[in-house]
Amino acid sequence: MQEEQKRILLLTTGGTIASLPTSQGLAPGLEGDQLVQLLGRIASQYRITVRDLLQLDSSNIQPEEWQVIAEAVYQARSDYDGIVITHGTDTMAYTSSALSFMLLNIRIPVVLTGAQLSIDHPLTDAVDNLRTALAMAASGTPGVFLAFNRTVIRGCRAVKIRTTNFSAFESVNSPYAAYVDGGGLHIDPSLPRPNGPCELREQMCREVFLIKLIPGFDPEIFDLLVQRRYRGIVIEAFGSGGLHFVRRDLISKLRMAHEAGIAVVVCSQCLYESSNLSLYQTGQKALEQGVIESYDMTTEAAVTKLMWVLAQMPEGDLKSVRECFATNMAGEINA
Ligand code: ASP
Repeated sequence: MQEEQKRILLLTTGGTIASLPTSQGLAPGLEGDQLVQLLGRIASQYRITVRDLLQLDSSNIQPEEWQVIAEAVYQARSDYDGIVITHGTDTMAYTSSALSFMLLNIRIPVVLTGAQLSIDHPLTDAVDNLRTALAMAASGTPGVFLAFNRTVIRGCRAVKIRTTNFSAFESVNSPYAAYVDGGGLHIDPSLPRPNGPCELREQMCREVFLIKLIPGFDPEIFDLLVQRRYRGIVIEAFGSGGLHFVRRDLISKLRMAHEAGIAVVVCSQCLYESSNLSLYQTGQKALEQGVIESYDMTTEAAVTKLMWVLAQMPEGDLKSVRECFATNMAGEINA
């Protein structure tokens, strides 16, 4: 007996995968139906419904667009076996992280994908990426994922690490959720199942600032952030979480930000492994000022989680922000 075809919703948002040359360079121009057509025979193995949501280079995808995407997924979640979202690669890891929090406990696979070359290009990687994304979307594995170059990454563990190579994304501090080889799609059997009802929590606090420290960074910038009423700051600190206090005293500014009700998260500039603020004097001094440690989260996950957590909490309730930030929500942190 022939297996029933899986119902897949294809949501398109633009990106290189759907791009066409214009007088000003590449810009998204292809619609979802054209993507499906160019995908060829593979598409006929699924019952695909197309919905064109946005047509943007992903540099233009911001929290407002994350909300549009999250709402579209949430509304459609009971009508499909899985959802594939095509998206530009440049900010796809931010979107996949944000959706991981906005759509906690989603019961179907939601798989973002894109390409380094337009699906219209003779050497495109889009067909391969869509194949993997469709297979993952049809697999019944719940969660938000990013499919690229025959691998599947948990949404809040993805980082874009290359500009042109087809191996553009890495699964940071976490094994692949799935990969493809001659044996088919291998899905990590230890992926967690949802542990409650799926709720749409799409609100995001926009007043979050990311600082990448450089030697000699001027701490005065914190005065401006307090003045502008930012609610959250993520600091990409050195190594295990080092910040300077000699000559330019960042530590006293951390105290000032904390007292102004700003949640300050410290993560590492290193892509791999975890922060450990307890290890060095500089880190311990920062901890004494009330900063929150992000451990092995990616910067993308730390920023989007902070935006998300701040939107759930009453302003100034830093204790609840700290507790929620430290709790593993979608696989973003190895406690
Ligand atoms: N600039 C494009 C985007 O992010 C790059 C890509 O899709 O690969 O929309």
